[in-house]
Amino acid sequence: MADSRSRNLRLAARDLAHVWHPCTQMREHDAQLPLIPIVRGDGAWLIDGEGKRYLDGISSWWSNLFGHANPRIAAAIATQAGTLNHVMLAGFTHEPALQLAEELARIAPAGLTRVSFASDGASAVEIALKMSFHYWRNVGQPQRTRFIALANAYHGETLGALSVSDLPLYRAVYGPLLFEPVVAPSPDWLDAEPGENADAVARRRLAELRTILERHAGETCAVIIEPLVQCSGGMRMHAPTYVGGLRALCDEFGVHLIADEIAVGFGRTGTLFACEQAGIAPDFLCLAKGLTGGALPLSAVLTTDEVYRAFLGDYAANNAFLHSHTFSGNPIACAAALASLAIFRDEPVLERIRALAARLSERIEPLRDHPHVAGVRQTGLIAAFDLVADKPSRTPYPPADRRGLRFYRHALGHGILLRPLGDTVYFLPPYCIDDGDIDLMVDAAVGAVDAATA
Ligand SMILES: *Cc1c(COP(=O)(O)O)cnc(C)c1O
Repeated sequence: MADSRSRNLRLAARDLAHVWHPCTQMREHDAQLPLIPIVRGDGAWLIDGEGKRYLDGISSWWSNLFGHANPRIAAAIATQAGTLNHVMLAGFTHEPALQLAEELARIAPAGLTRVSFASDGASAVEIALKMSFHYWRNVGQPQRTRFIALANAYHGETLGALSVSDLPLYRAVYGPLLFEPVVAPSPDWLDAEPGENADAVARRRLAELRTILERHAGETCAVIIEPLVQCSGGMRMHAPTYVGGLRALCDEFGVHLIADEIAVGFGRTGTLFACEQAGIAPDFLCLAKGLTGGALPLSAVLTTDEVYRAFLGDYAANNAFLHSHTFSGNPIACAAALASLAIFRDEPVLERIRALAARLSERIEPLRDHPHVAGVRQTGLIAAFDLVADKPSRTPYPPADRRGLRFYRHALGHGILLRPLGDTVYFLPPYCIDDGDIDLMVDAAVGAVDAATA
């Protein structure tokens, strides 16, 4: 035990000598924020250097679908790595990329037949933004140079993706480097007026968006949204009718619709893609995170034949999409994605998600009565609530209180990984958890809420 503990400490000390961690004030390591060396993953669980186990209640940043070290995905990776690691996708192709493109076109909302590959979610968003912009130039409308994004949106950290994001915590400091989208109000139903339901909020927000489009459509390339759940913006949720109404408005005003399903795709909301709940297809669909089951970085942008055709022409006209990433369509990553999609084909995954979602919903219900919990909400297997100082007025705690951080540390101490966004606690577990894990996770969360709000 003493040895294994010192292994944890040794790994953390070596790490802190060189590794600059994402999304972290490094000065907080290790006094306020523990740095935990993970040596192994096993299904929904992560195991540290001391052998301590943590239930991964947030799917390692929303990427893991079928468990850590999933044997089927691991085997596909190993086989592919022993066959072909990588070849550039310009001038060459290979079975994993073409088969994944076929498979994505088959399962995506109708009409999304053309697939470009990149590695991270943010790079998929960059592709969608650039393709939409370039499409309008190619069809003789170069005056379209703007995008419409929603308040409270998050689309990634690279400069284009950050430009269409609206979270000051990540965006403000880089403001001078970014382009300015037109920002439309978020359809988040927590902003309901008295007597309004989620559909009424959606109708009100669509009417406001119509006004914006009346003024800006002529200079607009696309509207970009995270359908059904604005995840990084605090797991804020809206009615599918908003997504349906948005599609209709984009058609009416002749602008593209970009659906960023990087977080909500692959079953999180209870359907394979969130757009299905509105019965619509976007012009661009961005996928990443869960695309490989969470095993490797891979992202994809799907679009229509109509968009694709606008890029065909004489080489000299420079209307081709010359954007590239070295590892576009990497065979190992594509093989992992194919193995993950095979699990969706072979097992009743969506039924399982719905059953787990029902269990989660039942288990979090009592939290509605907690004096410091507000806004309990759920879409599919994503559930969230806010820690608040005063419940009737939904008054937040002063940010300096770091209640979310207290929650995080308390839950970790009890072997549950739940990492709040500010003071918003959320559950976003992988699909391999069972009912017992859900109970453990929610029980630990209840204890952590009490500890964080005491
Ligand atoms: C995580 C996320 C991104 C960015 O993906 P990365 O792989 O982290 O670059 C973009 N959009 C949404 C909705 C996300 O949740």
